Amino acid sequence: MLLRHTTDKIIERKALTVNPAKTCQPVGAMYAALGVHGCLPHSHGSQGCCSYHRSALTRHYKEPVMAATSSFTEGSSVFGGQANLLQGLDNIYKIYEPDIVAVHSTCLSETIGDDLGQIAAKARTDGQVPEGKHVVVASTPSYVGSHVTGYANMVEAFVKYFANKTDRLIKQVNVISGWVEPADMRELKRIMGLMKIKSVLLPDTSDVLDTPMTGKFEMYPKGGTTIPEMVSMGDSLHTIALGEECTTLAAKALDNKCKVAYTSEDLPIGLKATDRFINTLSKIGGVSVPDSITDERGRLVDTITDMHQYFYGKRVALFGDPDQLIPLTEFLLDMDMKPVYIVSGTPGKVFEKKMSAMLAERLPEAKFKNGPNADMFLLHQWIKQEGVDLIIGNTYGKYIARDEKIPFVRYGFPIIDRVGHSYFTSLGYVGGLRLVEKMLSAMMDHQDATCSEVKFELVM
Ligand code: SF4
Repeated sequence: MLLRHTTDKIIERKALTVNPAKTCQPVGAMYAALGVHGCLPHSHGSQGCCSYHRSALTRHYKEPVMAATSSFTEGSSVFGGQANLLQGLDNIYKIYEPDIVAVHSTCLSETIGDDLGQIAAKARTDGQVPEGKHVVVASTPSYVGSHVTGYANMVEAFVKYFANKTDRLIKQVNVISGWVEPADMRELKRIMGLMKIKSVLLPDTSDVLDTPMTGKFEMYPKGGTTIPEMVSMGDSLHTIALGEECTTLAAKALDNKCKVAYTSEDLPIGLKATDRFINTLSKIGGVSVPDSITDERGRLVDTITDMHQYFYGKRVALFGDPDQLIPLTEFLLDMDMKPVYIVSGTPGKVFEKKMSAMLAERLPEAKFKNGPNADMFLLHQWIKQEGVDLIIGNTYGKYIARDEKIPFVRYGFPIIDRVGHSYFTSLGYVGGLRLVEKMLSAMMDHQDATCSEVKFELVM
């Protein structure tokens, strides 16, 4: 009964957020920067901010997350952090030798009005950035948006800085990925490999945040999108932007700068979204879909068919990030489940419209809210009004699940009370299988643990 004070009576709130369904912008900027090879994220603000961002990522990925900070003191908080950042860049290049320093701002540095672009330019002019090294900057004030916004801003900054158009056209496709697990990024590359499509994936945290244990510490692991790859994105045939909220800014920037047209797709979560992704790849790459992928699809359809009797009509509460929630909701609806309550702390008109339109057409009784007041407290209140059979979301959902005795599937960011999630994909047909298996297991484990003895079955 940790949330014993939550009632089902909803009082209109204007300013108060209780247990937000999001985290802060720089966390997303830091994650995106880790998906670039040889890049050291740098937090322009206080040490406390940087510690929080690093620990949020370390707790989820169970890997050491390296990042630097401008270490604001009282003085820099009043007079600005330029001197700290200039000194910091000097130290970082001498001691840690990254190829790129990806600087993001924080609430404090934004409030003071530090201009990261101007400071980076000064660092270059003053010789604090060695020849052949790079400083990329992104503005990520955390009092707007969420970690999703920070991710989008940093990916856009990489594209703006590196992508370059020449007169050669490279037969390759850019894939700008939304915030997914390292295993998901590996899965995207596997699918494109099976389809024999040459691609550049940005960012790519596989082999960065899921590195094998070798006994040796690598400051810059072997994974991540390389500088030549990012430069070549300006000469690619086309861009596929996976997950609108995280990737549209970057895809647009690339189109504006290098005239590489883009197609926005949902993250390939579940059957239909994966179908759309595979069809787009096939069309843009000019290749047919191999039998091995058709077989993977068939196995997912077969499994869903076997599970349908358990899923039919089940009420689900979801919370998390827009790019996951859209295709996941569609997937649940396709399996005849009822995603009745959906919240996301990430604001966004496009997301709001898209989700509202889908629910209006397919499940009008569903309740959906995004933005600052769309928090875990509201989700709990809805659940108190009428219960659900399953909750899907990050670790913070465990309080509601425990209090209300509802099966719970951990999905999204952050998952800080379990280990291993970053090693298994939930994208594509293979990832779809994992999702449905987790959902059904959670519901059946709950039934086994709570049903009366006469209803306890060996074969279910
Ligand atoms: S002060 Fe702002 S940037 Fe720093 S941790 Fe808090 S929300 Fe994030």
